[in-house]
Amino acid sequence: MFAQEFVLKQRTEILHALCSSGSTEHLERVLDILLAQGELIWEDYQNIQVPDRALYTKARQLLDLVYTKGVDTCELFLAALKQVLPESQIVGLSFAGCNSNLEEKEEYQSTSTHTLLTQRPSLVSKLLGHIHGALEALVISGHFTSADCDEVRLPVYTPSQQARRLLDHVRPKGELAAKVVLQYIQQKQETGSALNPEKLTPPKEFLKYQKKLSSSVSAQSCFLSTYGGTSHMSLDDIYTEGQLELAQYCADVHGPLGLEDIVGTVGTVNEEADTVLVSGEAGSGKTTLLQRLHLLWARGVALQQFLLLFPFSCRRLNSEHRELSVKELLFQHCCWPDRDQEEIFQFILDHPHLVLFTFDGLDELKQSFSDEKRLCCPTQPAPVHILLFNFIQGSLMKGVRKVVTSRPEAVGPMLKTHLCKEVLLKGFSPSGIDCFVRKHHSDNTVATKVLESLQTNTALLGLCHSPVLCWIVSQCHKELLGCGEGSPQTITDVYLMILQHFFQHQSSQKSTVGLGWFQDHLKTVLHLGQLAFEGMKNTCYIFSGTDLETCGVTENDIYMGFLIQSKDLSSNHGKHYEFLHVTMQCFFAALYIVLSNNMDHSTISKLFEVKDMWETDLTSSCFRACLPSTYQQDCSLQGDATAAETSNLQITATFVSGLLSKRHQSLWLQCCPSAVMEKKIRQVGKCLSKGMQKHFKSIPQPVEGEKKSMHAMPGFVWLIKCIYEMQESRIAKDAMSKLEVDHLKLTYCNIGPVECTALAYVLQHLRNPVGLQLDNNSVGDVGVEQLLPCMHICNSLYLRNNNITDEGIRKLIAKGIQCENFRKIALFNNKLTDACTQHISQLLRTKDDFLSLRLGNNNITAEGAKQLAEGLKFNHSLQYLGLWGNKIGDTGAEALAKALESSKTLVWLSLVGNGVGNAGASALANIIKNSPTLEELWLTENCITRTGVERLIEALKHNIHVKSIWLRNNDLSLEEVEEMTQRESRLVF
Ligand code: ADP
Repeated sequence: MFAQEFVLKQRTEILHALCSSGSTEHLERVLDILLAQGELIWEDYQNIQVPDRALYTKARQLLDLVYTKGVDTCELFLAALKQVLPESQIVGLSFAGCNSNLEEKEEYQSTSTHTLLTQRPSLVSKLLGHIHGALEALVISGHFTSADCDEVRLPVYTPSQQARRLLDHVRPKGELAAKVVLQYIQQKQETGSALNPEKLTPPKEFLKYQKKLSSSVSAQSCFLSTYGGTSHMSLDDIYTEGQLELAQYCADVHGPLGLEDIVGTVGTVNEEADTVLVSGEAGSGKTTLLQRLHLLWARGVALQQFLLLFPFSCRRLNSEHRELSVKELLFQHCCWPDRDQEEIFQFILDHPHLVLFTFDGLDELKQSFSDEKRLCCPTQPAPVHILLFNFIQGSLMKGVRKVVTSRPEAVGPMLKTHLCKEVLLKGFSPSGIDCFVRKHHSDNTVATKVLESLQTNTALLGLCHSPVLCWIVSQCHKELLGCGEGSPQTITDVYLMILQHFFQHQSSQKSTVGLGWFQDHLKTVLHLGQLAFEGMKNTCYIFSGTDLETCGVTENDIYMGFLIQSKDLSSNHGKHYEFLHVTMQCFFAALYIVLSNNMDHSTISKLFEVKDMWETDLTSSCFRACLPSTYQQDCSLQGDATAAETSNLQITATFVSGLLSKRHQSLWLQCCPSAVMEKKIRQVGKCLSKGMQKHFKSIPQPVEGEKKSMHAMPGFVWLIKCIYEMQESRIAKDAMSKLEVDHLKLTYCNIGPVECTALAYVLQHLRNPVGLQLDNNSVGDVGVEQLLPCMHICNSLYLRNNNITDEGIRKLIAKGIQCENFRKIALFNNKLTDACTQHISQLLRTKDDFLSLRLGNNNITAEGAKQLAEGLKFNHSLQYLGLWGNKIGDTGAEALAKALESSKTLVWLSLVGNGVGNAGASALANIIKNSPTLEELWLTENCITRTGVERLIEALKHNIHVKSIWLRNNDLSLEEVEEMTQRESRLVF
C-alpha cells in the first residue's frame, strides 16, 4: 500500500518536482517510461497529453490516473520519477521504501508499432540529432506528408519533444511506418558505430598525421604570452574557468556550462547546423578558451570524439590573399602531412563527424559574414573568407563541427540562422577572480593582499570580471598595493598602470620617480601609438617589419613587451608582430590621438561618431576616409567596416575620454602644448554631449497617461562609459541635465558590474527620480553594489534575471532604506533564499511608503514568508506583493495572510505556484473579507480543493472591490469548476 499512499500524501511535492521548472521534459519522460512498461495504455497517454493543456493539469491527471490504477502502477511511477528527476529533488521527496525497478522490456513483441511503445524512452534519445533524417525517410516511404513533418518540427518543441511527436505521429500511420522508423534508427546506429573513433582503424599515415597535428596544436597552446617573447605562463597554471551560458533559454539546462558542453548537444537550437558560436566582449577570454580546448584535445583528455582538430585564427586568415581549396587551407594553415595527402584528405571528407574546426575572432575577419557566394566543392579554390562562410553554413564540409568565436556585436541575424547554438562567455565569476589571482601569485600573502585591495575598491573588482583586466591588475600588484587611496577606478587607469609597469619592468633606465617615467618613454609611446592607430584605420592587427619601420618602432620599443611575435604555424615570411591584446592596440591608438601634435582636427569627432553596429556599417569606412592616411598597404580600405572595427573604435574612444581626464593631465603637461590639450578636451566634451542629445531626441513622446520612457541602445551605455572614464562630475551632470524621463529601460544591454559603475556615476546626476529597468543583464552582486550611488534617484528598480544573491540584496536594501524615493523593486528570477527576507522585512517595516515588492521565481520557503510577514505587520503602504514560483506552502501563506489581514493598501497579491493548499486559501480568505483595496489575488497552480475555494467564495460575499481571484490549475474537477464559476463570477479557473 505504501506507494499508493505516498502518491496521495506527497502530491504537492511530486507536482512541484515535476512541474516547477516550467519544462514538460520531466513529465514527458515519466510518461515515456510508463508507456514502455505497459502501465499506461495509449489512450491514457492521449487523455493526458491534450495539446495546449497546462503542465500542472497534465501532471495532476497523471497522478489521479496512477493512483486509481493501484499500488503496482504507483510503484512503477515512483521508480520512473526516481530515474527522471535530478538528485536534489529526489532527496526532497524522501523516496524510502520505493523499490520497484525499471527494466527495459524484452523484445518479444511481434509488431513494430508495439516496439515503438516498449522501447519509447531509448528511441526518443536515439532519435535526437536524427529527426530530420527520420522525417525524410518517412516522407520518401510515403507515410508522412510535409504537414506531418511541420507538426513534428514546430519551433516551440525541444529536440526530445520533436522525437516524441514523431513517434506519436507514426503510431496511427500503422505498422509499415513504424518499421521505417525502426529501420532508420538501426541503420543510423550501425553507421554511427562505424564512426565511433574507438572502433575505427584509420590508415597508418593518418595516425602519423594525427600525431603531428596534435603535437603542433599542443605546442601552440600550452603557454600564454605575458611579456613580448620574454615571459610565458603555462596555461595549466593560470587557466581559470570563465562563465559560460547558453544565449537562448533552455529548460533542461540549469547552472553553468562546462567546456565540453560547447561542442556537445546541450542547448542545441538548430540540429541541422554544425556551427557553435562562442560570443564575448574583447578580453572576455575567447581566445584563451579555445586555446584550452585545443590543449585538452591535443593531450587526449577532452573532445576525444574528434580525431582531428584544426585551429584557425581569423586575424591570421586576413593575411592569406591567395585562393585556396579546403585541402590547402587545412594543410597549409594548420599542419602539413608528410605523406599521403590525398588519402588523409579523403579520410577527412569521409568522416566529417570526427573533425573539429575552430575559428577564433570571426569579428576580426575583414569581410562581414554573407551567405551570397555558395561553394560546395572541397577541391575548388576560393578566397579563405568564402571557404569560412561556407563552412559556417554547412554547404562545405557538412558534418564537421565548427566552433567560432566573436564579439557579440559582430553577429548579425543572417549568421545566427546558421548556428546550432550560441554560447556566451561572460568573463570571470567573483570566485573566478579569486581563483585567478591565487593562481597568478604563487605567494599566498601577495594574492591575499591583492584580493583584499580589490574588496576595498569594488569599481576595480567590477573591472576584474573581464579576464584581460584581471590579468593586468594581478600583473601590476606592486603598483596596485603601493598606490593606496589613488587605486585605479577606470579602465584607462588600469591600462596606464600596465603601461608604467611594463616600462619599469623592462627598462634598462633606472625607474624615475614621480611622473618622469612617462616622459622617459614618450618616444616608444608615440611609435607604438602610431602603429596601433594606423593599424586601426586599416583593420590591421598583425604588423610586418616594414610596418614597424614606417612608424619608427625600434628593437627597444619591441623589447618593452607590448608587442608579441605572431604565432603562425606556417608563415615563414619574416617576423610579424601584434599587440599583446587588441584592447592594448586600442589603448596605444588612443594615446597617439591624445599626444600626437599633427593629428587631424576632425579625428576626435569622427571617432565619437561611430555608431552602433546595426545602425550603419559604413561609419568606420567614413572614419578611415576622413583620417589622414600615412600608411597605405595591402590591407587598407577594403570593403565596409567590420564589427570589430566599430567595437575597437568605441574602445579607443573610451580610452581617449579617460586619457583626457583632468586626473591624468599632469602626465601630458610636459609632452604637449596645453592649448592643444585643452582643445581636445573641449572637443571630447562636445562629442559626448552631442552623442547623448541624439539618444535623448529619439525618446518618443509618451501616450497620454503613460510615463515618459527611454529604451536605451548599446551606444548609450558606451557614451555613459566614456563619461565615467573622464571622472568629471561636471560633464556627467551636464549630460544628465537634459535627460527628462520617468523610466529608463536598459534591458538586454549586456550590463555587468563595470557598466553598473559607470551608470551609477552618471545617473546619480539625474534631476528627477526614475524607474531604472535593468532586467536580463549580468548585474550580479558586485554590480548591485556599484549601483548604490544612484539609488537615491531610483523610485523603482527592476533587476529581473540578473544572478543576484542574498548578499547583493542585503547591501541593496541597506541603502534603499535610506533613499526617500525608493518605492518599488522587482527581483524575479534571481538566486534569493530565506537568507535575504529578514532584510526585506526590515525595509517593509521601516519604509512606510514602499509600494511594490516582487520576488517571483526565487527560493523563498515558508520561513522566508514568515520573515516577510513580520515586516508586513508594520507596513501601511505596500500595494503589490509578488511571490510567484517560490515554495512558501500553506504555512507561508498563512503567515502572510495574517500580516496582511488588516492592510488598507494591498491591491495585488500573487502566490502562484507555491504549493498553497486549503489551509492557505482559508487564511487568504480573511484578507478578502477585510480588505478595502484588494483587486486581484493570484492563486493559479497551487493545490487548493473545493474546501479552500468555498472559503474564498464565502469571503467574496463581503467584498465588492475584488475583481478577480485566479485559480487555474488547482485540484478541482471540471464539474466543480463549472459549478463554482456559476456561483461566483470573479473566480477565474
Ligand atoms: P578575447 O579573445 O575574448 O579578447 P583573450 O582570451 O585574448 O580574450 O584574453 C585576454 C587575456 O586575459 C589573456 O591573454 C589572459 O591573460 C587572460 N585570460 C583570458 N581568459 C582566461 C582564463 N580563462 N584563464 C586565465 N586567464 C585568462
